[in-house]
Amino acid sequence: MTDNREMSYGPARALPGDQIAITTNPDTEPFWEKAKAHKLTACQCADCGHFRMPPSPYCPECQSTAKQWPDLPGTGTVFSFAICTRNPKNGEEYVYVPVVIALDGTDGAHLVSNLGGCDADDVEIGMKVTVDWNPIKDDWVLPVFKPI
Ligand SMILES: [Zn+2]
Repeated sequence: MTDNREMSYGPARALPGDQIAITTNPDTEPFWEKAKAHKLTACQCADCGHFRMPPSPYCPECQSTAKQWPDLPGTGTVFSFAICTRNPKNGEEYVYVPVVIALDGTDGAHLVSNLGGCDADDVEIGMKVTVDWNPIKDDWVLPVFKPI
């Protein structure tokens, strides 16, 4: 009989960039333009300072449409994660870890991303992480994360 506690997922990787395409709109394009320059940002209300991710036309706190895009430190904390073992495109074995990151430098904004740079078995809630950059389709760049 097999002891499942001995099972190992192995190294976590970001999804292959050539499988990832994005679309932008006026509310999201500043995020992607900064990512292209390897700067992490989040949508912040220019009136009350509340961060909101994903970006939206109106601030949920004060209904302002004014936005700003400050440079963030690029670090954060794993808020939640899952371990996936199949490539969603072709079903082949592929270990990746979708994560929700609580972004440092914000008042609680979260970003959904991938985590790599360690064994999937070692990922845990509360882990400190830093941003890394994964080229994707159409010369865009996806912020992904790795342990500090
Ligand atoms: Zn506001």
